[in-house]
Amino acid sequence: MRVIPIRDAATSPLLPEVTAPLAVDGPLLDRRGRSLRDLRISVTDRCNFRCIYCMPREVFGHDYPFLPREALLSFEEITRVARLFVAQGVRKIRITGGEPLLRKDLPRLIEMLAGLDGVELTLTTNGVLLPRLAPGLKAAGLHRVTVSLDALDDPTFRRMNDADFPVARVLDGIAAARDAGLGPVKVNMVVKRGTNDQGIEAMANHFRHSGHILRFIEFMDVGSSNGWKMDEVLPSREVVARIDRLFPLEPIDPNYEGEVAERWRYRDGAGEIGVISSVTHAFCSTCTRLRLSTEGKLYTCLFAQNGHDLRALLRAGADDERLHAAIAAVWRQREDRYSEIRTAATAAARKIEMSYIGG
Ligand code: SF4
Repeated sequence: MRVIPIRDAATSPLLPEVTAPLAVDGPLLDRRGRSLRDLRISVTDRCNFRCIYCMPREVFGHDYPFLPREALLSFEEITRVARLFVAQGVRKIRITGGEPLLRKDLPRLIEMLAGLDGVELTLTTNGVLLPRLAPGLKAAGLHRVTVSLDALDDPTFRRMNDADFPVARVLDGIAAARDAGLGPVKVNMVVKRGTNDQGIEAMANHFRHSGHILRFIEFMDVGSSNGWKMDEVLPSREVVARIDRLFPLEPIDPNYEGEVAERWRYRDGAGEIGVISSVTHAFCSTCTRLRLSTEGKLYTCLFAQNGHDLRALLRAGADDERLHAAIAAVWRQREDRYSEIRTAATAAARKIEMSYIGG
């Protein structure tokens, strides 16, 4: 059976036509007054896991037509674009995928991006390749990593990630990141009611006193292939309440405006946790994130349906001013607030796959 790639079928035209040069004073704001601060760059659509909430095997099977190499933005193209984003206010770049550590020579890209002044350079990974790559990534200029870990016991881990890797490989990756100086490591657990929520307390207990920051993510209707249902969402307030019963917690202020996770710390000083509540407590009003897909399309929301093709401009020989103006035009037109308007109908609508634009 021919599998149809779940990518952006109907890409918007190249990019908004920009008539006047972009000499606008003050910060670049979207239609809801949000500034552009965070750029997430997907460097591959491939992954060595098949997480059921992101890349279910029945859709992303062995014959799934992943992007050919020439379709991916080159490191030079990514760095050129990133520099233009930094000129427009981006202060944090997160490298994502698929699984970014599968992209060949990734430390070379990190080194190129590390040359951008005043930018925090982070990366999200499933962790199993960190023991081999962490020291090189650190030496190349990476600041921090976030590692996904959805369970501590192998049977549940396999149910969530459908990958033939034991939990121990991810825990080794987290330790390698810490040892390489890529901490504090943030550890993300996607909670799916009825599949892995029984492990919440054990995860919390495991990471207490570790210095790592454990975050619990509500199961989201990202993409069009994870079979999302509202009754499989465990609201963050229940997660906090369950942990608080065992290990009393208190809320703490965000590190900066627009931080995705709500922060809580253990009253006994054992560290902090976070919850990311896109379904039950939307945070669109302070969303400062833009996503660049593996093949150079801009997405203004994780739940977008269409993107803007920056690669076409790049490969058509556009100069920096044209690219700069086009990026600004995309952001200025932005009014996304998907999590505020989510319904059963929107949840069922075709949306871009998270594995293609990064979380
Ligand atoms: S749903 Fe879209 S607009 Fe809202 S926080 Fe997420 S990415 Fe931002």
